[in-house]
Amino acid sequence: MVEGRYFYPNATHFVEARAEAGEGRVLRIADGAGAVLAEVPGKAVRATARLASLPRRFDLPDGARFDTPDNDGADALLRALGKTVSGRITDRLERAWPVVILSLVITLAAGYYLLVQAIPAASEWLARRTPPAVAHIMTEQTLMALDRFALGPTKLSAADQARATKLFQDVAAHSRGGQGAYRLVFRHDKPGGVGPNAFALPDGTIVMTDSLWPLVKDDSEIEGVFAHEMSHVDHAHGLQRIYAASLFPAILALVTGDVSNVSQMTAVLPGIIAQSAYSRSFETQADDDGAATLRRMGLKPSHMADLLERIEKSVCKKDHPCVKSWLGDHPDTDLRAARLRHEDIGPIDDHLNCWEPWKTGISLRCLGFTAN
Ligand SMILES: [Zn+2]
Repeated sequence: MVEGRYFYPNATHFVEARAEAGEGRVLRIADGAGAVLAEVPGKAVRATARLASLPRRFDLPDGARFDTPDNDGADALLRALGKTVSGRITDRLERAWPVVILSLVITLAAGYYLLVQAIPAASEWLARRTPPAVAHIMTEQTLMALDRFALGPTKLSAADQARATKLFQDVAAHSRGGQGAYRLVFRHDKPGGVGPNAFALPDGTIVMTDSLWPLVKDDSEIEGVFAHEMSHVDHAHGLQRIYAASLFPAILALVTGDVSNVSQMTAVLPGIIAQSAYSRSFETQADDDGAATLRRMGLKPSHMADLLERIEKSVCKKDHPCVKSWLGDHPDTDLRAARLRHEDIGPIDDHLNCWEPWKTGISLRCLGFTAN
């Protein structure tokens, strides 16, 4: 016996009623006094599925209906009428918080996978297939923009330029691409601009700013910088960053079907991504490759560490934060220098990778507990 309300055929008025399954799987609905309001074969009744604690509704063929908040009673009644009880699974899912939390975790994991695996992989795939002509146009555009705001014609003497170019060619001969793959250009850095710096552009052009040169005390130091930048060219790191920064908003639009946020995202995301794990892992790779090139030339990678520390001293003053420099946006100079000094004796084969703990697990050494 299930308590509920009986609504007269196609009407909004109702009476309190009870429903039960009678002989021959007949649904019988009676009012409080026991007067029969309806008697219908079970198979002619349509019932709504169970969904959380929503009231159940039994539609009768003549347009009348019976409502009840008693979900368990309604299920028992349906079974007694020989009907399958549908909606139980949905109902259980709705009630089951662990399942809700699990789907949330799966969604987050998918987003995480997209960000740290799929997008970098797709960016690398695209970067490696970018035609040289396109990389060249991108380089020219970037250099033109930099020349307008942050850079100017070099003020280095012809002798200094010739000396730097000679060292650059020596390093190129020992790098993966060979001498034809890279080109060194000099620029004066305007105050408040890119500071003492060297950076690689997509087509193999490497820019060195004037203020880096006086900080160099040993040829091996600037050779290490060139080798590091050549590694960025070899791995198309610049292109990968550009693609990663454009892919994320594109995929977001695809998934959400909403393009309105995309223009805002494109303005914000390159900055976020440039400082994220991508660039950290690129820097580690370029440092490792640079160290390997120096070793091939019979030089010590620790020279790069010396220069890093000297740059930090020159650009980070006590009363104001570090200006831009080859250190990067978030200098972790101690960690980089320690790693480079370690490379004097050979490549770091333990793949200690503090920027991408999902690849190697979290190492205590990354938290500052050093054994050496
Ligand atoms: Zn770098």
